[in-house]
Amino acid sequence: MQTSVPVLLYHHINYDNDVLSIPPELFEEHLKFLKSEGYESITKEQLGEYLETGKKTWKDKAVVITFDDGYLDTWVYAYPLLKKYGFNAILFLVTWTVEEDEFTGLNLEDYWSGKIPKERLPNCSSTYSIEFGCRIKTVRRLCWEEVRTMERSGIIDVEPHSKTHRKIYASDKIVDFNRPKDKLSAWQMVKGDERFGTPDFERKPELAAREFIAYQDLRDRLADYVIQNGYAEFFKKPNWRMELENIVEEYKKEKSTEKIGEFESEEEQRKRIKTELEVAKGEVGYEVRKICEAFSWPWGAYTPLSLEIAKEVGFKYLFTTKHGSNSPGDSPFEIKRFGVWKKDLDWFKSRVRLYSKKLLSKAYGAVYRKI
Ligand SMILES: [Zn+2]
Repeated sequence: MQTSVPVLLYHHINYDNDVLSIPPELFEEHLKFLKSEGYESITKEQLGEYLETGKKTWKDKAVVITFDDGYLDTWVYAYPLLKKYGFNAILFLVTWTVEEDEFTGLNLEDYWSGKIPKERLPNCSSTYSIEFGCRIKTVRRLCWEEVRTMERSGIIDVEPHSKTHRKIYASDKIVDFNRPKDKLSAWQMVKGDERFGTPDFERKPELAAREFIAYQDLRDRLADYVIQNGYAEFFKKPNWRMELENIVEEYKKEKSTEKIGEFESEEEQRKRIKTELEVAKGEVGYEVRKICEAFSWPWGAYTPLSLEIAKEVGFKYLFTTKHGSNSPGDSPFEIKRFGVWKKDLDWFKSRVRLYSKKLLSKAYGAVYRKI
């Protein structure tokens, strides 16, 4: 008998060469397996009721299928395949990356109906470009019309996954200086000053840390120095780091202090997190015309404070990346998920079976936290 509901976390259904990118053919195998084993996909409300009361509102076995971030491949591959096998899913969106287009693009259904050859499907692979010496990764995102169409179908429940999915500077120790990097992706974006030459501090997910802000005059001094000394070329000098470190030391001497900035107050932190959550909730709600009640934490990162604020903002279901069981008595504010990786089908089968058993998934979750 099933004693825990596995909650699956997908990111990409595409052909990229990384562990989070599941080829559409493999995703279809996952769905076929779930179907043949008697699993049906349930909604957050059904899961919530089960956690609270133990009542099962499904026939045999259940899973919850979720997608994080909001990539175009959710529309092109995942949505048609879910529909084909009679499954539903929750899509957690990063709202600022959603495209404004007012029409839906082509997807697998257009191929199945013979309207287009397979090559005409939108390219969902990552592309790379070089700007200012940085290698920038670009991934195509959904547009609002695709999001609305999926929500209207009843197959996809659209919910927020933050507005910006950013990190913040969360320490006063300089670990580096901002400069041209080999690789850049949207996920490396930081809320703070990123001008070349400004200090780079330890970064943490913005909903799970207190922000440190270096003084404006120090940042300006460093950024101006880099501009006056060749900008990106400056970092080719062998002593560039020492030159910037000297500016920081001079600044401290001049001000007779070791302090180079301030941490936000708890009140400011609370306000910042609340605004971020409210905006994400409001934007998705406005676009799909509903009250959003679920949220998934960017990078799975949260603290007791952000948890408290998420409840205040009105979220009833909070999805984490913690491993463990979803069984009666467990909290809907700490729903456990397991990331589906590009591994063979047997790995997938064993994980679904494991997370269907309360004791096994609890034990595995405890071990997983230690490694
Ligand atoms: Zn994410």
